Amino acid sequence: MANVWEKVSSKEKEEIFKLAEEYKKFLNSCKTEREVVNYIISIALENGYKDGFNHSSDKLFFFDKERIVALYKRGNKKASYGLKIIVSHIDSPRIDLKPKPIYEDSDLLLLDTQYYGGIKKYQWFSIPLAIHGVIVNKYNRKQTIIIGEDENDPVFTIADLLPHLSRKVQGDKKIDEALPGEKLDLIFGSIPLDGEKEEKVKKNILKILKEKYEIEEEDFISADITIVPAFKVRDIGIDKSLIGGYGQDDRICVWSSLKALIDLEKNEYSALLLFVDKEEIGSVGNTSAKSKFLEVVVKRISEIENENDFNKVLYNSKAISADVTSATNPNFKEVDDPRNSAKLNHGVAIVKYTGSGGKFFASEASAEYTGYIRNLLNNNNIIWQVGLLGKVDEGGGGTVAMFLAEYGMDIIDIGPPILNMHSPFEISSKADLYMTYKAYKVFLESK
Ligand code: MN
Ligand code: MN
Repeated sequence: MANVWEKVSSKEKEEIFKLAEEYKKFLNSCKTEREVVNYIISIALENGYKDGFNHSSDKLFFFDKERIVALYKRGNKKASYGLKIIVSHIDSPRIDLKPKPIYEDSDLLLLDTQYYGGIKKYQWFSIPLAIHGVIVNKYNRKQTIIIGEDENDPVFTIADLLPHLSRKVQGDKKIDEALPGEKLDLIFGSIPLDGEKEEKVKKNILKILKEKYEIEEEDFISADITIVPAFKVRDIGIDKSLIGGYGQDDRICVWSSLKALIDLEKNEYSALLLFVDKEEIGSVGNTSAKSKFLEVVVKRISEIENENDFNKVLYNSKAISADVTSATNPNFKEVDDPRNSAKLNHGVAIVKYTGSGGKFFASEASAEYTGYIRNLLNNNNIIWQVGLLGKVDEGGGGTVAMFLAEYGMDIIDIGPPILNMHSPFEISSKADLYMTYKAYKVFLESK
């Protein structure tokens, strides 16, 4: 397995850095599922894609509820030969507001929260946080709110305990017990309203919300409000080789596959990108990989192409589950099998199977399909490596591959390794980003 930096030409190095700048812009502007969906649709529209539920054209987009989206580009072959599908997920671990979040305690106004996905709670204390979301008021008017991204905006934070007083409350406990989910409450304000006796701060904050945003307390019930890191994406390392930022699981794959499709000149097979929500909580709900959205889209494509058996289209398809894998962490090498775990800068990772322990809940690609992918990457000089999530009994995890595999299509996990995964500041490699983009592009192009 080769280090990408040792294999690429100086011209390619330039391309690597250029690509990273484009990706960083995307990452800075897309911190929620809705923002990703709107970004994808805007790129689709710019490139001549049309709304597939209302038009028929060679380039179509489909979306639902601002949380799931698909892009379709017709190839030379009919849909019945199968599609080239790349699926990735647009949601990332974060903290959500509860339906009734506002309360006052110790003369501070706090927002009560519930975390979403697998986070290590301690990583979310003592950092600047931003609020992103959508609120529907009593007149059914929808309002988008982003506070904490502009330099002049305030940010929010979750206060931790000082070391002087944390010995008993935190120090003697297991890390998860020391920081229970109910302690992840956000500081939102602190000035009391003049002339009030009770809940003075709360009254003042509600007044500000009403005046500035026309938001009332009950409006928080009909809202999707999330709390995400407020800081921007940054280069990491004196050589600027790495990228640090929130939400790279799985938005690095979202962006790389989108870019691959847009840059695609010719495709023999029709290409379908699917971007799903709710992967981080088990792919449940009406915008997840387990929803019927893919079926609805492929039925519509089949209808446009006069193909009466959409199941055949799905069965004959070849797919990539575009998701990140873990990168070897030199500080914690004991959790990995060094021969089978991915390293930063060593290219896009092929993960033949996910799951945990005795391959429980694993979606495993066959020898034949893995061989097809391996040869495809080798023949196109794409630097790849093997990835596996930790040692056999260390833990594990899954992706959405298993849900698409149910249709009988071949599917394999391919994506870059990520260090610090699920943290507010995930780390990727610019070299791996480049190889990931190239891998998805040759997959969509290949005959
Ligand atoms: Mn993921
Ligand atoms: Mn994840």
